[in-house]
Amino acid sequence: MATTSLPRAASRGGSFLVESCTPEDIFSPAELTDDQKLIGQTAEDFIRNEVVPFIPDLELHKAGLMPQLLKKAGEIGLLGGGVPEEYGGAGLDKVSSVQLAEKLSAYASFGVSHGGHSGIGTLPIVFFGTTEQKKKYLPLLATGEKLAAYCLSEPQAGSDAQNSRTRAVLSPDGRSWILNGQKMWITNGGFADVYIVFAKVDGEKFSCFIVERGFPGFSAGAEEKKMGLKGSSTTAIFFENCQVPKENLLHEIGRGHIVAFNILNSGRFSLGAYCTGGAKNTLETASKYAKERFAFGKPIGDFGLIREKLAEMAIRIFAVESMIYRSAGLMDLAIAAAGEDADKSQQSMKVFEEYAIESSISKVYGSELLDFVVDEAVQIFGGYGFHEDYPVARAYRDSRVNRIFEGTNEINRLLIIQMLMKRATSGALPLMQAGAKLREEILAGPSFEETPSGAWADEERILAGVKKAFLLAAGAALEKYRDRLADHQEIVAGLSDIVMQCYAIESSLRRVQKAEAARRPESSSGATPVMGDAARVFLHDGADRVEVGARNVLAAVLEGDMLRTQLAVLRRFLKRGPVDTVAMRERVCAAVQARDRYPFEGR
Ligand SMILES: Cc1cc2nc3c(=O)[nH]c(=O)nc-3n(C[C@H](O)[C@H](O)[C@H](O)COP(=O)(O)OP(=O)(O)OC[C@H]3O[C@@H](n4cnc5c(N)ncnc54)[C@H](O)[C@@H]3O)c2cc1C
Repeated sequence: MATTSLPRAASRGGSFLVESCTPEDIFSPAELTDDQKLIGQTAEDFIRNEVVPFIPDLELHKAGLMPQLLKKAGEIGLLGGGVPEEYGGAGLDKVSSVQLAEKLSAYASFGVSHGGHSGIGTLPIVFFGTTEQKKKYLPLLATGEKLAAYCLSEPQAGSDAQNSRTRAVLSPDGRSWILNGQKMWITNGGFADVYIVFAKVDGEKFSCFIVERGFPGFSAGAEEKKMGLKGSSTTAIFFENCQVPKENLLHEIGRGHIVAFNILNSGRFSLGAYCTGGAKNTLETASKYAKERFAFGKPIGDFGLIREKLAEMAIRIFAVESMIYRSAGLMDLAIAAAGEDADKSQQSMKVFEEYAIESSISKVYGSELLDFVVDEAVQIFGGYGFHEDYPVARAYRDSRVNRIFEGTNEINRLLIIQMLMKRATSGALPLMQAGAKLREEILAGPSFEETPSGAWADEERILAGVKKAFLLAAGAALEKYRDRLADHQEIVAGLSDIVMQCYAIESSLRRVQKAEAARRPESSSGATPVMGDAARVFLHDGADRVEVGARNVLAAVLEGDMLRTQLAVLRRFLKRGPVDTVAMRERVCAAVQARDRYPFEGR
C-alpha cells in the first residue's frame, strides 16, 4: 500500500458531484507546455514513420515485428514514461502521458501493445517493487531491452479475477516459488520477457510475482484468433511447476489484490486517452472521405445527415478530451502538492487511487466514444466501410474490445457507484450532507436567488441541475434499498451514467469558459464560437440524457404521489430553454471539414 498521504490542497476524487469549480480550477489542453507538445509530436512522428508503413505486415503477425517496433520506441524514450528518472525512465507527468497515449493509438494494435508493456506490465514494479527489483528490471523495461506483460485473467476468472486457480507454493528448499496454472488473454504474451503474474499462495493468498520467460516450467500458448487488434499479441500463458526465485514475490503475500486494483486504476485512465486518440484519427479519415466520395452529383460531406455525424463525433471527442485532461491535471496537481521530497512513484499510485472514479469514467466514456465514432465512420464509408481494404473496417474491429478489457464497462459502471458510496460512508466525500441540503432546498420550495446570468446562464443551470438530479435519484434509490443497493444493478448503472454526465458536462463547460476568457477577456461570449457550439450541444443533449436516466431510476424506486412530486422536482431542476442544435452541429461540422480533423486540438 502507498505510504504517503494525499496533500490536502488537492480536490478530492469524486468531489465534482458535490462541489462547484471555476474554469481556473481545471486543466485544459490549451495549457499544454512546449515539452508536453513535443512528447506528443515525437509519438505522432514515430507512429507515422516507423509503424504505419508496416501495418499490413503487423496485421499478419509477421514474426518479431511488433517487439522490434516496441524496442525502437524504447530507444527514443517512448516506453519509459511511467518509470522514474533514477531508473532510466522519463518520469512523465500525467498530462504528458495522456499526450503520449493519444498519439500512439493511431494504430490501435501498437497502442495496446505499448499499454501492455509500459502501463500494466511495468507499473507494478514501479509502484510495488523492492529497490533490488526496481534496479534489476526497470532500466531494461524503460528502454525496451526487455518487454513486459500483465497476467491476471484466467479461463474461468476475468471480471472475477480473484477467483484465480493459479497456485504458488514455496519449494521444499525454500528458495523458489513453484507456480502451477494458466493465464488467458495476455497482451504481449507471445514475445514479452517479463510477466507480472497473479497466483494464490497455498491456493488461498492472492499474491503477485515477477516471472521471466526463461524460467523453467514457463510457456506461452499460440496466438489467439481475435476479432480485432490483429497486430497485437494475445496468448495464454502456462505454468507447469514453474520455478520463480523467492525474491521475485512482488509486494506482500496475500496482498496481490492491492497490486491488481492499483494497476487497473492507472490502466483505465490511460485507456480513455488511447481511445480519444483513436477517435480523433478516425474522425480525420471520415472527414476526408466525405469530401472525396460523390453521390447525387455532390460530395457526401455536403449532405446534412453526414454533416451531423461528423459534428457529433467532434462534440463527443471534445467532452471526453475535456474530462481526461482535467483529470490528468488534477493528478499532476496532487503529485506536485506533495512536495519535491515525496516519493513520486508512491504519490503517483496514491493519486490513481484517489481519482479511481474519474479513471473508471475515462475508461467507460472513452471506449463508448470510440465505438460511436468508428461505427459512424463505417456508415460514412458506406459499403466500403465494410471492406477490409479501407481503414475504418479495421478501426471498427479494433475498437470493440475496449469495452471489455481493463474491467468491462458493466463492472466499471458498478464500481463508480460502489466507490462513491464507500467515500461517502468513510467521510472522504460529503455526499450525504449534499443530499440533506438538497432535501432542505426541495422542502423550502423554488428559490429566486442566485440565478446565473451571462452567456452561459442556461448551461450553468443545467450543470447545477444535473448534479441535483443525481442526488435526487441516488437519495431515492438509497432510501429504498439501503445497503442492498448493489443488488439492483440496473439502478446502479443508471446512477453511474448520471455521474459520468455530470463530470462530462462540467468539464466541457469549464473548458470552453476558460478558452473564452483566455482569448477575449473583455467579452463574455463569442471568442471561440465553434467550441462554444460543441459545448452547448453536449450540455443540452446531456441534460436530456440525465433527465431520462433520473426519471427511470425514480420510477423504479418510487410510486404514487411521491413519484409524481419527485418527477416535478426533477423537471424543475432541469428546466432549460430550447436551443438550435441543428445549426450548432452544422457549424461544428464546418470546422471539422475546414481542416479535415478534430477542430479543438490543443485549444
Ligand atoms: C484482446 C484482449 C486483451 C487482453 N489483455 C489482457 C492482459 O493483458 N492481461 C489480463 O490479465 N487480461 C487481459 N484480457 C482479459 C480481459 O481483462 C477480460 O476479458 C475481461 O476482464 C473480462 O473477463 P471475461 O472475458 O472473463 O468476461 P466475464 O467476466 O465472463 O464477463 C462476461 C460478461 O458478464 C458481465 N459480468 C461479469 N460479472 C458481472 C457482474 N458482477 N455484474 C454484471 N455483469 C457482469 C461482463 O460485464 C461481461 O459482459 C484481455 C482480453 C482481450 C479480449
